[in-house]
Amino acid sequence: MQINGFSYTSLAAMPGNTVGAGAVGANFGNTNAGANSVDGQSIAQDSCQLSAKANASNDSCIEKAEPSQDIRRLRILHLNDLHGAALPEEGRGGLAQVAAVVKREKAEVPEGSLVLNAGDIAEGTMISYLSKGGVVSESLAQMGCDAIEPGNHDFAWGQPTMRSMLGQVNAPIVCANLEQAEGHEFAQPYVIREVNGVKVGILGLSTDVSNFTTDDKIEGLQYKDPIETAQQYIPQMKKDGAELVIALSHIGVEQDRLLAKACPDIDVIVGGHTHTELPEGEYIGSTLIVQSGYKGQFVGEVDLDFDMTTRQISSAKAELIKVDSSVEPDPEVAQIVEKYVNSSNELAHQPMGQALETLTYSHSECAKLDQIHADSLRQAMGAPIGLVNGRNLRANVEEGTVTYEDLFNALPHTEDDAVLMKLPGSLLKEALEKRVAGRIVPASPSGFSYTYDLSKPEGQRITSITMDDGSKFDPNKMYDLATSVSLSDKKMFDNCQKKPMGSAQEIFMDYFKANSPWHNDPDQRVTKL
Ligand SMILES: [Zn+2]
Repeated sequence: MQINGFSYTSLAAMPGNTVGAGAVGANFGNTNAGANSVDGQSIAQDSCQLSAKANASNDSCIEKAEPSQDIRRLRILHLNDLHGAALPEEGRGGLAQVAAVVKREKAEVPEGSLVLNAGDIAEGTMISYLSKGGVVSESLAQMGCDAIEPGNHDFAWGQPTMRSMLGQVNAPIVCANLEQAEGHEFAQPYVIREVNGVKVGILGLSTDVSNFTTDDKIEGLQYKDPIETAQQYIPQMKKDGAELVIALSHIGVEQDRLLAKACPDIDVIVGGHTHTELPEGEYIGSTLIVQSGYKGQFVGEVDLDFDMTTRQISSAKAELIKVDSSVEPDPEVAQIVEKYVNSSNELAHQPMGQALETLTYSHSECAKLDQIHADSLRQAMGAPIGLVNGRNLRANVEEGTVTYEDLFNALPHTEDDAVLMKLPGSLLKEALEKRVAGRIVPASPSGFSYTYDLSKPEGQRITSITMDDGSKFDPNKMYDLATSVSLSDKKMFDNCQKKPMGSAQEIFMDYFKANSPWHNDPDQRVTKL
């Protein structure tokens, strides 16, 4: 019952909800009116007038106004899915710019601000990869962070890196639904923080990380359903004194909606994972769901006014603050970013070989870079055959001296690890059928070639498979296949034996360097009839 005041506001705020619709505008108008007001008195008066309108009764206003002398502002500033975007990209984001906004907004409500991060902080750029996330975590620590929940990409470089990277943020790590075996502890289920005299409980909820990474990186961690977990912990949080319940979640906006439906006791869900922009937040029942896009393009802000007498939220307002080139970078974080840019430059410019002509990639055929990628994995694992996804390569390598950065940008997915997979020939053929069906993104083979005919019915389009070693392709034989996670994690391979073999990107770079110089001369491995 303690938070019913908030429930009332937010229920009314649901679009199309006619009950109390008058009060909605009223409460939100109140928040706006009170946004620059620091003294509780004036907010309370606004609130009185507005709730008078809503209730069409001055008496109830007076009655309600009495306890509302002490209204305190709580401000939640939230970030999600920064994905290593240390520098602005196309005029948006940048850690120093994000920090400037966070610090400015925090300074407006110095006693009542909470800075929350919903995960996926580092994976996605070279500078972040080279510093193992250090550029992001050090910047987050500098701007201040009150709690962080890990995202699936935070496990990209293994658990020790995840622990040190998130640890460097210098904030409690919350995650309730990854059960941690002994020796694998890294997070607490929730924290309770007293903010401006209000006890705020922050519960961490993670997505099923096993869907996104190899088993070795999530060893000792057991995923549990986020909704059941929340239902289990919320009563405990309240027993511990939480007056407000915030779920800091990396389960995606669809799951956040289900969570809100199942757990009406959650006041605010600060979400991530789906890179969703919710400009004013979204209400499901009494729960406010917010998420701020990705790569620091926005800083999310939720202002809650808390009535200290009734111990209820009297109004709430969510917005996204755009981070663009009009924001003056924060000098302290700019310095941190510059330090990491400088230290990564040396490696970024390191020569890795020669391209005698521009080496191309393709998402529709087996181009030279695709072949180098497939061959590098097969050679590194000593496997008879290899097969890689058609979309792993993302940029050409220009003619001339090739640098680390050039190769990084060509094959940018640092967590797409190499995998040695055992599978019967029949399943390999089925995989090729799937690849050529539909969106026509063939996979690039190594150690064998195949022919396909799109005029044939689905499932019969692979007309031949020829092994390079001269042996006959046998659907009943078990093959060792060199591949990477983006292919091996497909459902159809669920029952195959798989062995993680380290970074596919590093293998690609080593192979490129060892076999330089390169011509753009792909051989005929995939033939379309
Ligand atoms: Zn994610």
